[in-house]
Amino acid sequence: MKPLIVANWKMNPLSLKEAKALFEAVRKGVKSVKNADIVVCPPSVYLPLFKGLVLGAQNCSWEEEGAYTGEISPLMLRDIKVDYVVIGHSERRKYFRETDQEVNKKIRKAIDVGLRVVLCVGETAEERTQGKKSQVLKSQLENGLDKVTKEGMKSVIVAYEPIWAIGTGNNCSTDETMSSVLSIRQMLTNLYNRDLADKTKVLYGGSVNGGNSGSYIKESGANGLLVGGASLKADEFIKIAKSAG
Ligand code: PEP
Repeated sequence: MKPLIVANWKMNPLSLKEAKALFEAVRKGVKSVKNADIVVCPPSVYLPLFKGLVLGAQNCSWEEEGAYTGEISPLMLRDIKVDYVVIGHSERRKYFRETDQEVNKKIRKAIDVGLRVVLCVGETAEERTQGKKSQVLKSQLENGLDKVTKEGMKSVIVAYEPIWAIGTGNNCSTDETMSSVLSIRQMLTNLYNRDLADKTKVLYGGSVNGGNSGSYIKESGANGLLVGGASLKADEFIKIAKSAG
């Protein structure tokens, strides 16, 4: 399976000038990467201004249109040629209190309008030490994917993002990542079937950098990476992309 490398810029950088410079540097730098797919997810205000790389949004509404102040319709994203949307990132779950049910509504709507979805799942440090990781992943997947059909699953990518590893420099070991990726596949097998589980991309995210990215691609069984902090440094992100393809 061709690895997928997704850059999540979060709420950075602060000026259009910097955003354009970062995008252009990444665009040029990943041109030679042929064996990995690259997706850049900048803040939504920058999306219509960027061309030349596959684009993703960091969130979208579960509604299509109307009186929903502050929301961005997935149809608007499609209209400006955005292909992907990240849904259920732990920061949205934590700071904006997004529930699995809301995540599910967003996923179903995004799939309906033709977006590819990167569904983020992952446990907190506390849940991990209490031995609740599998339980957490299972309920995030079961609820997040409720009523998502087998056909719909062709548009879904799962990102395993242990919350304790995000932005901390404390990346998850490749062994532990492998075991989580395997349990996610087992859960997808139980929810759908083995063939679908094998065909669904499962990414790893959490303090990935140019030094550790290759080991995830080669040793963890993950089909790609979701990269936060390191995607804001063009050289670092290009290194990550090259390590995958
Ligand atoms: C993320 O926020 O999805 C992420 C993986 O962040 P970082 O790479 O900074 O840990």
